[in-house]
Amino acid sequence: MQTIRGFRDILPEQIALWQKVEQEAAALFESFGYREIRIPIVEKTALFARSIGETTDIVEKEMYTFEDRTGDMLTLRPEATASICRAYIQHKMYAAEPVRKFYLTGPMFRRERPQKGRYRQFYQIDAEVFGVESPYIDSELIFLLHTLLRRLGLEGLSAHINSLGCPVCRPDFQKALLDFLGERKDNLCENCKRRLVKNPLRILDCKVETCRQALEGSPATVDHLCPDCRTHFETVKTSLEKLGVDFMIDDTLVRGLDYYTRTAWEVQTTTLGAQSAVAGGGRYDRLVEELGGPSTPAIGFAIGFDRLVEVMEQLDTQVCEKGPDLFIVSLGADAQAYAFEWSCRLNTMGIRTDSDFRGKSMKALMKRANKVNAAFVLIIGDNELAQKKLVLRNMATKEQTEIGLDNLVNDLAQLIKN
Ligand code: ATP
Ligand code: MG
Repeated sequence: MQTIRGFRDILPEQIALWQKVEQEAAALFESFGYREIRIPIVEKTALFARSIGETTDIVEKEMYTFEDRTGDMLTLRPEATASICRAYIQHKMYAAEPVRKFYLTGPMFRRERPQKGRYRQFYQIDAEVFGVESPYIDSELIFLLHTLLRRLGLEGLSAHINSLGCPVCRPDFQKALLDFLGERKDNLCENCKRRLVKNPLRILDCKVETCRQALEGSPATVDHLCPDCRTHFETVKTSLEKLGVDFMIDDTLVRGLDYYTRTAWEVQTTTLGAQSAVAGGGRYDRLVEELGGPSTPAIGFAIGFDRLVEVMEQLDTQVCEKGPDLFIVSLGADAQAYAFEWSCRLNTMGIRTDSDFRGKSMKALMKRANKVNAAFVLIIGDNELAQKKLVLRNMATKEQTEIGLDNLVNDLAQLIKN
């Protein structure tokens, strides 16, 4: 049996970077007042279709959708924002305290063509804020993302920022875009010809080369913003500049989901070839209301965890993996019984202790102690037990200390802690 295409195992040998990222992210988010939220992996299909948009790539061709035994249509979540909105509304979180800041880490599912940096089960780290319309929250999120990536030592990244406007100015932009594309209709791919009628903004996100060419010189959303959207975007820009966050205005950036309004951004890397987006986010001020909640401004971003780890691997990021404080080498049945008891006791006293009950030779067990990178090794055999004296070996200095059997656990704890 093998994993299915686009799905993969992340093995203990690879996990150090994942854990480092998770710890850094959680610490940073928590310090800014974000709280972790955990939500189901499966939701009703309608939730994603209605929020992400019927004519987006995700909904049209990438979702893992299936019929439950009762006939309900269910989908493995392709992203987290829609589900977090659902939770915010379902639990009436807005009633107790409308301003909520969440973060989440977990798997997402999209049936795309698998390649390096693109999987069918991939992981995202999300941060979302509900209930704040102020542009400072846009800047806070962009700053958080920037700070996290810097703390992780990432280089060669660029942040692209745009404003997509709101329902007030969007129609004006859409008209300008349609006027522009009218003459270039024949050069668009079949998909975009359909989008022209159904969802013209999506054309801006099309990856087909002929469409990219047809779009050259197309109108920019930022030139069609209403005064409120313009002021909002100005504050985002100036507040980020003040903090020294590097970004560039990218007036072609629209992102692949329909729910975005106003600020949208993406962080790109040059180190992963075509899969260049490491993170993306944006405002979605209409979504909570569209999903049946009260009118609530909201904004968030998602980091592509797999890609982030791949960039860190390329940069040869080292995470020091600590072995156990103590490895107990036990030779013989009696020794194993002691090894078991002491390793349990020491672990509860804060000494990270591992042992091996296979009944292997001294040589094999010492090899294992080396492999797991133990700081100390305790050797117990029949002789040692008979003489009531055990040897503790410091693996770094090779120094050996004799310890009496009486009060062994406490003596060990003292020696190792020093
Ligand atoms: P892309 O343009 O690369 O398809 P996207 O715009 O579809 O990305 P989002 O929906 O914004 O991606 O998700 C946020 C992040 O999740 C992306 O920036 C990317 O790093 C990551 N991501 C998206 N799809 C995949 C995937 N299939 N495999 C691995 N990571 C992914
Ligand atoms: Mg995509």
